[in-house]
Amino acid sequence: MIYFDNSATTFVSKGVKARIIELTEDTLSANPGALHKLGNKANEVYESIRKETAALLGAKPDEIFFTSCATESANTAIKGYMSRNKRAGNAVISTRTEHKATLESLEYLSGLGYEIRYVKVGPDGKPLMESLEEELGKGGVALACFTLVNNETGSVLPFGDIAKKIKAESPSTVIYLDCVQALGKMHIDLSSLGAEMCSFSGHKIHSVKGNGVLYVRKGVRIDPLIVGGGQQDGMRSGTQSPVLAGAFLEALKEVSTGIDEGYDTVKEINLFLRKELISRGAEILSPEDALPYVLNVSFKGFESETMLHCLEIYDIFVSTVSACSAKQKKVSYVLLEMGVDRKTAANAVRLSFSRYNTLDEAEEFIRCVDEIYDQFLVK
Ligand code: PLP
Repeated sequence: MIYFDNSATTFVSKGVKARIIELTEDTLSANPGALHKLGNKANEVYESIRKETAALLGAKPDEIFFTSCATESANTAIKGYMSRNKRAGNAVISTRTEHKATLESLEYLSGLGYEIRYVKVGPDGKPLMESLEEELGKGGVALACFTLVNNETGSVLPFGDIAKKIKAESPSTVIYLDCVQALGKMHIDLSSLGAEMCSFSGHKIHSVKGNGVLYVRKGVRIDPLIVGGGQQDGMRSGTQSPVLAGAFLEALKEVSTGIDEGYDTVKEINLFLRKELISRGAEILSPEDALPYVLNVSFKGFESETMLHCLEIYDIFVSTVSACSAKQKKVSYVLLEMGVDRKTAANAVRLSFSRYNTLDEAEEFIRCVDEIYDQFLVK
């Protein structure tokens, strides 16, 4: 089997599986909010997980909140900030190439009467500075929402430049940054990054599904999305799960080492595939300077879904547009926004790698693509 769908989700690492078993011991299974000593012990474990997670991300423990997924983190950050800071302004800026977790949160805000201003992106998927300047210049921007690495193309946001521009033109604007596809692939230090709020997802870094993180810089106030028993400093009610938080931490520890070596491995795979695919007439839609973990490619003569299923015959797994919307059979809105024509976008397939993929797999992939063209292309 060749799994090139790591941006959709990743396999659970052995270390994470082992940690989950440890954390489900009876002696650790009490409610961390309980007053008895078992509860205290569970709470101690939970808090130490929070502390270690924060340290690895370059944050303070009370800036880290465990959520169920990055979608929840995005909803909490975006809706929560605007709800709490009504006097900060009525506008939010973003791009139309964000993940749906952001876009739908913005759509929700639009329904409440907020003004959502979309910054245009160029053919490389990066926001155009003139467009950013224009939208900031209209004033009243309370929040800016961007993504560090685009999940469909691997396009890397020039975040330093963007943050500098935002803070220069509109110093009170708070920045929310989706870091889901960057975690474990780029070095991230929240203390110096320049974003006030960030989201992360466990299942993209070899943890199980059901765990995410929201970072909110100290001093930034947001309303919680989930209210109830007031756990996690009232920011995210619901009984804390040391198991899920611990699974996230274990995965984070694993991907926080060897980032550069992982990058080199994946870069080699990516360059090999680019060269081989281009020589076969395929069009590479990921920009040249994209993070190599994602390679978006349009195959001549095969619609995305047909190619996906042809590859599946060979036990090769890839995705069409982002997996969450693949069933809606829509052409990628990200590619269209970047100016890719509809026909090319309709044939786009996303290959996404992890540090555990190999060059042998890439060679086998190419061999199978050749067979697919020989066997299935209607001439
Ligand atoms: N943001 C990006 C860039 C993603 O790729 C994804 C997942 O596809 C998400 C957010 C949502 O993550 P989760 O599945 O944890 O809700």
